[in-house]
Amino acid sequence: MMNSFFFSPHKNIIKHTMACADETLEPRHDILSAGTEVTFLDVGVIKFEPNTACDTSLVISCGVHGNETAPIEIVSQIIDDLLAEDAKCAQRVLFILGNPWSMIAAERFVDVNMNRLFCGDWQQQDLSLKEVKRAAKLEAYVANFFAEEPVTVKQRYHYDCHTAIRDSARERFGLYPFVPGRELPAEQKSFLACADIDTVLLQQKEANTFSSFTSLKHGAESFTLELGKVKPFGENDLSRFNGIDQALRGLIEGKPLNAEHADSVDEFEVCHSVIKTSDNWVFDVADDVANFTDFAPGTRIWQDGETEYRVGAEPEYIVFPNRQVPVGQRAGLMLKKKG
Ligand SMILES: [Zn+2]
Repeated sequence: MMNSFFFSPHKNIIKHTMACADETLEPRHDILSAGTEVTFLDVGVIKFEPNTACDTSLVISCGVHGNETAPIEIVSQIIDDLLAEDAKCAQRVLFILGNPWSMIAAERFVDVNMNRLFCGDWQQQDLSLKEVKRAAKLEAYVANFFAEEPVTVKQRYHYDCHTAIRDSARERFGLYPFVPGRELPAEQKSFLACADIDTVLLQQKEANTFSSFTSLKHGAESFTLELGKVKPFGENDLSRFNGIDQALRGLIEGKPLNAEHADSVDEFEVCHSVIKTSDNWVFDVADDVANFTDFAPGTRIWQDGETEYRVGAEPEYIVFPNRQVPVGQRAGLMLKKKG
């Protein structure tokens, strides 16, 4: 199958995004033979809309941290298959490669962590920075995508795909953004199970991540998905990402979510925020400990003079430990399995 004229002369959307990062694209349209309308909105942003009645708007993003390459490779292959009509498009889909400049630099970000810029927080930043402008644009593309929905659309999903530097005792996990009063639906747990993700951390505060933006501002069911380890382009073992690849392809081709295997997903909630309280603060957790490492009841986690924190009656699990933070900031989260 020939490559789409969209990315020509580049091989795929990855090459195009990296070659054209600083270019202004005029939006381009094409209609596939099955009637699907394709709109190339901006560098790394492409939309597919079937001409049949669909019930889901799906945002699939990757590369918000540009060195997290495996999900970018998965997404690029799905886009190629849709353009070649080797895969059926039965739902509206907006694909986003988030941060072109950090993809080029093979870094998590260049000037500012883009996944802290959403829910309008970009407005608090230096608006001359490329990543700040990009976050503002991505918010607008997503808002327009949802605003243009046909009346048949009943649900909005957003999966923001990442990989991590730190090891994880649970290889893949989802972060479910906090929205007051909401519970994680069984269908979404089923999606996670299909994607070989057996762990979800329920966030307990409103945040400024991309997935928080779609949840809080647009009522989407959304997740930040941590899908494995950071590796350079071309060095990923994509077979380890089969689950998410198949789960996303299933949704795009119109397979409805049911509640199957929902109970194979463990939910975790925060029971303690570890704060570096002073320069005398001692962290009893090793620097290189994996996310979701478990600690037995009674284990001391940190100490500062007379004050200390020990694991309670149930085992607790740590995520995002970082002793290097400035005094007053969060050095990790302790979790409990939700009963
Ligand atoms: Zn990331």
